[in-house]
Amino acid sequence: MSTKLIFEHSRPDRQGHTLPASDVPTRSFAEYIPGGLLRKKPAELPEVGELDIVRHYTGLSRLNVGIDTVFYPLGSCTMKYNPRVNEVVSANPGFADLHPYQKEEDVQGMLQIMYELQEFLKEISGMSAVSLMPAAGAHGEWASLMLMKAFLDKNRGGRTTVLIPDSAHGTNPASSIYAGFRTVEVKSNDRGLVDLDDLKQKTDDHTAVLMLTNPNTLGLFEDRVTEIAKILHDKGALLYIDGANLNAIMGITRPRDFGADVLHFNLHKTFSTPHGGGGPGSGPIGVSEDLADFLPAPVTGKKDGRYFLNYDIPHSIGRVKSFFGNVAVMVRAYAYIKMLGAKGLKRVSENAVLNANYLAARLKKDFLLPHDRICMHEFVLSGSRQKKHGVATKDIAKRLLDMGFHPPTVYFPLIIPEAIMCEPTESESRETLDAFVEAMLQIAQEARDNPDIVLNAPQKMPVKRLDEVKAVKEPHIRWKPEAK
Ligand SMILES: *Cc1c(COP(=O)(O)O)cnc(C)c1O
Repeated sequence: MSTKLIFEHSRPDRQGHTLPASDVPTRSFAEYIPGGLLRKKPAELPEVGELDIVRHYTGLSRLNVGIDTVFYPLGSCTMKYNPRVNEVVSANPGFADLHPYQKEEDVQGMLQIMYELQEFLKEISGMSAVSLMPAAGAHGEWASLMLMKAFLDKNRGGRTTVLIPDSAHGTNPASSIYAGFRTVEVKSNDRGLVDLDDLKQKTDDHTAVLMLTNPNTLGLFEDRVTEIAKILHDKGALLYIDGANLNAIMGITRPRDFGADVLHFNLHKTFSTPHGGGGPGSGPIGVSEDLADFLPAPVTGKKDGRYFLNYDIPHSIGRVKSFFGNVAVMVRAYAYIKMLGAKGLKRVSENAVLNANYLAARLKKDFLLPHDRICMHEFVLSGSRQKKHGVATKDIAKRLLDMGFHPPTVYFPLIIPEAIMCEPTESESRETLDAFVEAMLQIAQEARDNPDIVLNAPQKMPVKRLDEVKAVKEPHIRWKPEAK
């Protein structure tokens, strides 16, 4: 398709509309706008026909690479299919037209959904209380850290550091610093799991919390997590679980049962909802009984069959967002959980794990799999063999675009050189997984026999090789008339 700008389609006096002549006497702008504010020459707006406009924007919309168009195995992001019924439900005017200032009596249905969603998340995680307010995972982390800080300041004092494994997602240290903590890195052992000796050495009277992702970002379950919890609890510190990877364990194990004091959920990952590109998210947090009095207020309560917003939380850290959180995402998650039920959610996790293991087993023929054992819902390859032929992981990612796939997450986690992190999710069919494997194996072959094909990819995308740094730091996204 043409990737011309709408301005480049412009021809003088071409119109996209037909309006009858006005029968209202018109005044000139000069009569009521001060002269100094008037344009000296007409704005340079594109002059295009309606059909040109339709084709232009339809064409642009087709450039989107998304889960609705291609396989999107973006590790750590759980880019699963969002069942359309979720969209139908959340777009229902009964939900979509609500206003957050409406009286509680008038929004009992919405409050019921929020209340029941809190209950579902409690059941799935084993936690005692849930707040739905945070707007995304990173926001849930930050809210949790503020809450743990308030709890520790009140009860244990002097807690200044957050321990973070070297495989952690970048939001973990960022949220910690934002919440006023210092961070200390904990090493991984040769099995890709937290090194318990290192953890013991670094846990002391200043330790507030360990932020642990389980399964971790290598897709490996921290099988000594109850020992990890004990090391922390013995020193009066807390265990935080980054719940972004819940898609591997729903209905199989629960963070509270393996020692979590606090966790966040990513409704937009585990419980469907389109996400990415900064789109709407929801990052509820769950806490153990001891910390429930510190949750952001309000949470949704139920009394005598009526639902209400409970502001009466004794040590609440207060609001972390305007109103009540991203309720449209909550409605989608609620619909998803109701549709699948307890058995269905468990099957989601089982199939996500099965799909990941199938991909890993087939891909390790040509790609190095540093931790070669049964994984959870995702796994991390290394492009180091291909690197020997001068083909880097970023080249493999660009070549995949030409072959009709969104690339996996690359160069994360940082502890695997040339990392390629695949998360197929449960939604994908055997045929799609096989097609992805064939593409990856073909790229491995090209890297050996004809690396130029890979090094010159992508050929089929509207833009080719962008400057790695400037494309982000100096994006050219604005049309300027003088540049013509
Ligand atoms: C996605 C993710 C986060 C952050 O969640 P957002 O909703 O993107 O803010 C945190 N930790 C892990 C492991 C993640 O995958």
